[in-house]
Amino acid sequence: MLSDYYQTLGVPRDATQDQIKKAYRKLAMKYHPDVADDDESADRFKEIGEAYAVLSDDKKRQMYDLGGDPFRGGGGPGGAGGFGFPGGPQGFDVGGLFDAMFGAQNSRGPRSRVRKGQDALVRLNLTLAEAAFGTTKPIQVDTAVMCPSCSGRGAAEGAEPVTCTTCHGAGDVQTVQRSFLGDVRMVQPCPTCRGYGTVIPHPCGECSGEGRVRSHRTINVKIPAGVSTGNRVHLDSQGEVGPGGGPAGDLYVELSVSAHPVFKREGDNLEMIARLPMTAAALGTEVWVDTLEAENEGTLPEDARVQLTVPVGTQSGTRLTVPGRGVPRLRGAGRGELGVTLLVQTPESLDDRQRDLLRQLAEVRGETRPEAMVSRGGNPKGFFSRLKDAFAD
Ligand SMILES: [Zn+2]
Ligand SMILES: [Zn+2]
Repeated sequence: MLSDYYQTLGVPRDATQDQIKKAYRKLAMKYHPDVADDDESADRFKEIGEAYAVLSDDKKRQMYDLGGDPFRGGGGPGGAGGFGFPGGPQGFDVGGLFDAMFGAQNSRGPRSRVRKGQDALVRLNLTLAEAAFGTTKPIQVDTAVMCPSCSGRGAAEGAEPVTCTTCHGAGDVQTVQRSFLGDVRMVQPCPTCRGYGTVIPHPCGECSGEGRVRSHRTINVKIPAGVSTGNRVHLDSQGEVGPGGGPAGDLYVELSVSAHPVFKREGDNLEMIARLPMTAAALGTEVWVDTLEAENEGTLPEDARVQLTVPVGTQSGTRLTVPGRGVPRLRGAGRGELGVTLLVQTPESLDDRQRDLLRQLAEVRGETRPEAMVSRGGNPKGFFSRLKDAFAD
């Protein structure tokens, strides 16, 4: 049978909310486990909490007055069985009520099952052209999502969490240890409910009561033009859904850009090496080189290459530049330049006629027995390092 809540709080049946609150406050102070730690007091504390939970709520009080059981729902309105107040699926919360009235002291109160999810990180590899010009890539994401079966509640269909009988909903329990300094009171999360204040007697079969399940998804990620290795794309609320179906964290896509066989990126510039026959370098010429755009879908043929003018007498290591053909700037407008370092090729094998012609040229130029010419401060700036970099990867 139901206990008499009015009697429990020692108030008349027509007591005002103010009287009920005052009566509860006085009794709770007396029987709170912080003050009295015997079993009888604990039971009394639970009873007055229960009484207050009902009488302080007009709807539950009315239901109780009509003979219904607001905790079981049987006979009263909304009596679907299990724990169900109309308008509130949770059981009453003694610790929470107490804390609300007196401020949390030692007690932290029950913690919510619903917590925010963590951020997730996935890595995505890009080609240099994708990084330079931007793209949209599908990525596979494996994160927790809201349990579709229980919508995050964690309880099986039709079941509800019930108040933990170990901590009576407080979420933590107290132990008193006697020491030479006196009694030392310790507050710990309740071992039965792990601090939630409620237990789920019939957990959802799909998520085992977690409120979330792991899921494999494909997301299309838009990569802006001009990104480089180490940049992260931030996708709001695409990370892990939290315990109890809590709000999802964010998803970060960390980018790494593969090395390119021809182009090397230096900031916003692209660098490449072009080989040029000795004769062309001496006589001067025009050459076409493919730009990185050649690998970008939808590039017009005329945009996929540029013409370079090689001046008469060009030395190996000369760097020619093509403005606006580097990498688009991630922040701000415009593009870097394309740098083309020329590597003059000396013929490695000559037939008889070629050998004769070169000998004649050497004679005409008085170069049949040249002195080695030591260069002083004349080596093209950055040439050796550019070459080293270009062949390094
Ligand atoms: Zn579930
Ligand atoms: Zn508990």
